[in-house]
Amino acid sequence: MQNDPQRAKIKCPVCSKKFIPKSFHIEKLIMDTKESIIGTRIVPEKNALDQTEIKPMNIVRKVWVTFCPICGYTLRFIAEIAKKELIEKEGKSLLSFNEFGTHYFYNLYSFPKPYMDYTNYFDETIKDIISDIKQSLTNIHIEKLGSLSRGFYTEKVDPFKSLIRFYANLKEYCVASNDNPKKEDLDQKVNESPFPDQLEDLLRETRKLRNKVVHESYDLNQDDIELIKGAFKSFVYYLVSVELTKLNLKSRIDNIENGIINKENVFWAIRRFLSDEVGKILEFPDYSNKILNPLLEALKFPKKFYS
Ligand SMILES: [Zn+2]
Repeated sequence: MQNDPQRAKIKCPVCSKKFIPKSFHIEKLIMDTKESIIGTRIVPEKNALDQTEIKPMNIVRKVWVTFCPICGYTLRFIAEIAKKELIEKEGKSLLSFNEFGTHYFYNLYSFPKPYMDYTNYFDETIKDIISDIKQSLTNIHIEKLGSLSRGFYTEKVDPFKSLIRFYANLKEYCVASNDNPKKEDLDQKVNESPFPDQLEDLLRETRKLRNKVVHESYDLNQDDIELIKGAFKSFVYYLVSVELTKLNLKSRIDNIENGIINKENVFWAIRRFLSDEVGKILEFPDYSNKILNPLLEALKFPKKFYS
C-alpha cells in the first residue's frame, strides 16, 4: 500500500512543494492542422491527418490535468495516446493508412489517473467504513430482522406468527451470546443477557402475552400488538447500536488525517447509508425517530446529524 505510486505526493516542478492533488480532469487535445506534423488534427478529421506525409508515432489525445495548490502551476499527465502500429496488430483501429507502401493504423491506449486525488481518498475511507458497518449488520442477521419487521409492519402477517418468529430470533441471539448455553427457558436467558432494563421489561411483557395466547386461548388486541412491535423495535435497536458501537466510528473519523478528507462529509455519508440502506432493510415506519437518530447519538455523531 505504502509503495503504491498512486499514493505518492506530486512534487511540483516549479515550486518543489509536495502535494496531494485536489482533483483531476480530463482534457481532450484538439490540434491545429496545417502548421506541422505535431500540429496534425487527429480525430475525427481524417482529411487533416491525410495532409501530412509521415504521420507522428504517438499522438496525445487526452491528458489528466491538475494544478499545484501552492504556486498554481498546471500539470498534465497522459490519459490517452494513439500509437502508430503496423496493421497486423490487433486493437481498436482509429485510422488506418498507407505510408510508403506499408499499412499502419493508430491504436488507442488509455492511462489511469496518475495519482489519487481527494475524491479517491474520500471514497476509499467511506468504502472501508461502510464495509465494516455491513459486516457488523451481517453479524446480527439484519436481513432476518428486516423480514420480521416487514411481517410486523407492512406485509400484515398474523401478529402472533410474527411474535413467534421474533421469539425464535431472540432465542437464537441469547444462545449465541451466552457463554454457557444450557437448557434454560427463555425468561432466564433474557434475564442473564445484558439487555437494558426497559427492553427486558418489554420482553417479559410480550412473553406473558405469548403464554396467554398459547395456554389460555387469548386473542391479541391492538394494544398487545403495539406492545409486541415496541419490544421488537427496542430489540432491533439494541442489537444495531451495540454492534455498531464496537466500531468506534466517531474516533475513527476524528483520527483521519487532517486536510485531505472532509470529515463532515464522512459523517454525512455514514448517516446516509444508515438512513437509506439500513432503513430500507428494516422498514420501520418511524425509523428516523426511533432508530436512526438515537443510534447516531449513541455513536457520538455531532448533534447536527441527528437533530
Ligand atoms: Zn508549485
